[in-house]
Amino acid sequence: MRGRLIVVSGPSGAGKSTLIKAALASIPKLAYSVSATTREPRPGEVNGQDYIFLDREKFEEWIEAGYFLEWAEYSGNLYGTPEHRVNELLESGSSVILEIELQGARKVRERRPDAVMVFVRATSLEETRKRLQGRATETSEAVETRMSTAVTEVAALDEFDHEVVNGDREQARRDILGILNEIVEQGDENAKRT
Ligand code: 5GP
Repeated sequence: MRGRLIVVSGPSGAGKSTLIKAALASIPKLAYSVSATTREPRPGEVNGQDYIFLDREKFEEWIEAGYFLEWAEYSGNLYGTPEHRVNELLESGSSVILEIELQGARKVRERRPDAVMVFVRATSLEETRKRLQGRATETSEAVETRMSTAVTEVAALDEFDHEVVNGDREQARRDILGILNEIVEQGDENAKRT
């Protein structure tokens, strides 16, 4: 019985991580795929838990070795999804969430057309900017780079199966839980039929 692959994407600062944490805490058959990145850890981030932190040389070795289901450059850093772990989790019956940016989301959709695509966004680009500024871990230059990427990302909304607008946080939490619960249960139904 295989789980479903779920891509959660959307601009930086849309609140994806918080919503995903809530979903992981309340849906037992949902697992999170820990990505690799060359970005510096933020205060409090734990290696192997938030990300696998690699230097660029090691990351490039992993690309060469074909370890990634997808990888992309974002804001000057490399990010990638180790494929082996995702497959293990799916085979164990868990549905797996990839929290990735747009280029990576497109690659996953190409390689795994059965992946469910969920887009999370703030109510407006101004709100996105406020959240990025409020995070206080990004330099103002990094905020601007992320903002210009956000404009492209929001334009890709049509490529997704579901949209969650993160305005009222409690409502957004209910929305994403509803969507993800349904996906996980559908996975179970399909498994029962086959
Ligand atoms: P952050 O630096 O804020 O943690 O992440 C920056 C962006 O990279 C976010 O949009 C996040 O979803 C995305 N990201 C995180 N992991 C991956 C990954 O494995 N692959 C891709 N393509 N994007 C990722």
